[in-house]
Amino acid sequence: MNRPLQVTVLGATGSIGLSTLDVISRHPDRYAVFALTGFTRLTELRALCAAHRPRFAVVGDEAQALVLQQQLHSDGITTRVMSGEGGLDEVAGHPEVDVVMAAIVGAAGLRPTLAAVQAGKRVLLANKEALVMSGALFMQALRDSSAVLLPIDSEHNAIFQCLPSSYSQGLGAVGVRRILLTASGGPFREFAPQHLADVTPEQACAHPNWSMGRKISVDSASMMNKGLELIEACWLFDARPDQVEVVIHPQSVIHSMVDYVDGSVLAQLGNPDMRTPIAHALAWPERIDSGVSALDLLQIGRLDFQKPDDMRFPCLRLARLAAESGGTAPAMLNAANEVAVDAFLSRRIRFTEIASIIDDVLNREAPVATGCLDDVLAADRRARQLAGAWLGCNGR
Ligand code: NAD
Ligand code: MG
Repeated sequence: MNRPLQVTVLGATGSIGLSTLDVISRHPDRYAVFALTGFTRLTELRALCAAHRPRFAVVGDEAQALVLQQQLHSDGITTRVMSGEGGLDEVAGHPEVDVVMAAIVGAAGLRPTLAAVQAGKRVLLANKEALVMSGALFMQALRDSSAVLLPIDSEHNAIFQCLPSSYSQGLGAVGVRRILLTASGGPFREFAPQHLADVTPEQACAHPNWSMGRKISVDSASMMNKGLELIEACWLFDARPDQVEVVIHPQSVIHSMVDYVDGSVLAQLGNPDMRTPIAHALAWPERIDSGVSALDLLQIGRLDFQKPDDMRFPCLRLARLAAESGGTAPAMLNAANEVAVDAFLSRRIRFTEIASIIDDVLNREAPVATGCLDDVLAADRRARQLAGAWLGCNGR
């Protein structure tokens, strides 16, 4: 029998990280945990190390690494603890690693995800922000390496499953007319727009269908998540922004669709549980049990569709504009959004001001072409400065 594939889980303490470990632990013959990384919730990381016995763990800084190393030692666990960007790069690109789950949230995930691509791993991409920021460079790094990139975002995983075989053979999406990117519409889909200014972080994080980390929950509520996903889809599937149509589908049963020139529309359906795309990407092109229960369409009864409302969800429009502008615009959009969401979660701004900050940042600086990673990181820093300045003038 083949040896189990060695898996690094970047962002193991998060929502996607934990779902990944759930799927992996159902298949000990196929997968073994090589490394786990965490930045927050280090008590959980300690417990995960006890359960999965990885060779390495990575935390944010040296002081945390020392504490965790001592705790693991007293637990009788031999995991070696490393820290910082260097530690992340090492476990992402380690020669003994086969699969890397990229599930760090935000721009912090870019470097280790790229390291995994450059090292030729099977990369399971949950960290959409990495691709949004650096799309052209990221896809070039992918072409220059032997890495295999599989989308974890449920929509992109669905699209991947519905695309023709020519796509996975590197021959392009032959015969595809449009991508239909579905969106639940989040918790505020039916809120009166005038009440959106007063919603709280708790309301924004209470997603009707999915249980997720706080940042992506706020992004879903503002529909910036769908905006980031639109940009993600353009890079992954080599589509123009006008070939990606966003469709609100409140039940989150259809995870996205592909529309072909002959009028056929292929959809992927399933219960809203991230273990399905995770299991798909881990085992592709095979199929394994994910622990997700079978879809009961009779119980669901109906599937609804609506057009997104640009007035209620200006973030979606801003993301489409950034996708069309290209260059550094998506990196700036992403960075401004990260700062704004953080400020909203710490109650420094209103929900509706998330879009105001992003709009302001994008208007202050014209996008330029990105030649290398430093250009992307400079745009990210600049947008954070501009968003910080907005908060200095207007934040609470
Ligand atoms: P989460 O907040 O639950 O977890 C984030 C993980 O990243 C944690 O392990 C945390 O320790 C780590 N992390 C945070 N900041 C870090 C930093 N500066 N350096 C290193 N590590 C850091 O988030 P999540 O919901 O699991 O989402 C993870 C990624 O997956 C995001 O990019 C999100 O957009 C994407 N995604 C999530 C879902 C979902 O259902 N949760 C669905 C699709 C895509
Ligand atoms: Mg998604």
